[in-house]
Amino acid sequence: MFTVRLERVRQLSSSTRDFVFTRQDGQVIDYVPGQFFRFNFEDKEGTFERSYSLCNYQDLYSTRLDVVISEVDGGRATRLLFADDLEDMTAQVTGPFGRLILPTQVPKRLILVATSVGLAPFMPILKILESRPCDRVVLLLGVRNRDEFIYGRILLAYAERYPWFEIRLCLSREKALQNYEYDGYVNQQLSDIDMDPERDHLLLCGNPYMIDEAWSELREKGFNAKQVIREKYVFAKDTAAAKTNLTSEQKKLIQEKLKKYR
Ligand SMILES: Cc1cc2nc3c(=O)[nH]c(=O)nc-3n(C[C@H](O)[C@H](O)[C@H](O)COP(=O)(O)OP(=O)(O)OC[C@H]3O[C@@H](n4cnc5c(N)ncnc54)[C@H](O)[C@@H]3O)c2cc1C
Repeated sequence: MFTVRLERVRQLSSSTRDFVFTRQDGQVIDYVPGQFFRFNFEDKEGTFERSYSLCNYQDLYSTRLDVVISEVDGGRATRLLFADDLEDMTAQVTGPFGRLILPTQVPKRLILVATSVGLAPFMPILKILESRPCDRVVLLLGVRNRDEFIYGRILLAYAERYPWFEIRLCLSREKALQNYEYDGYVNQQLSDIDMDPERDHLLLCGNPYMIDEAWSELREKGFNAKQVIREKYVFAKDTAAAKTNLTSEQKKLIQEKLKKYR
């Protein structure tokens, strides 16, 4: 466990901020791009833990931890991190954790699928790919509207610079206008691009509902769990609730809430 201090916050969209934390022990962070850390915060009620993927892009290995966080109605971490006065915030951090990383053997085609801030772990992965390219990399990013297209400038410049990279921005609540924009959910794109278990390796991150849907479609197409690495952004309260017996009505409500955010 190590202590980090908040150095900088930026508003990226109406509901998203990126945060720069730095390690107070001066050590360089040790992780594999794509992994996440657990942050222990403290508020008036005590300490609590939330997981966040590292989103470092400019600076992959230093004392700096970049995270991008989206606001959640009534969320405990949200209350703390989206407050107006964020001065002098520290957190205790453990990690790294997670298997959402590049495979040792570079696949012919790598497909990165994310909803909203599920993009975070793909930023350091894209940085690594600059010096270790695949034949083809496709990023399917699902957002409700363009306001949520965080790091849009970086990603479009990346696509311009590297012809092997393609971005498909999937808009669920706005009409597609640009050549990289598509109507609907990311899963529609997964059906539209010709998927092949002999060639493709997938990393999926974000909304659990999107991931389950994608995974069931991919399994039908002959993909196995080693070719489709999944990281669900499950929420702390849901995890705790899942351990108790939820009524079918409660389960339905949770599913509807997640669908809304897909
Ligand atoms: C491995 C992992 C990595 C993660 N990485 C990131 C990351 O990089 N960036 C990021 O923003 N989040 C990430 N998360 C989610 C994050 O850990 C928190 O769950 C999230 O920030 C909400 O915390 P909160 O305390 O504000 O809300 P909570 O107090 O946990 O939740 C408040 C209420 O809102 C519901 N809820 C919470 N989130 C959502 C949502 N998105 N949609 C619908 N209902 C919701 C909960 O069920 C609960 O009822 C990650 C989760 C995991 C498991």
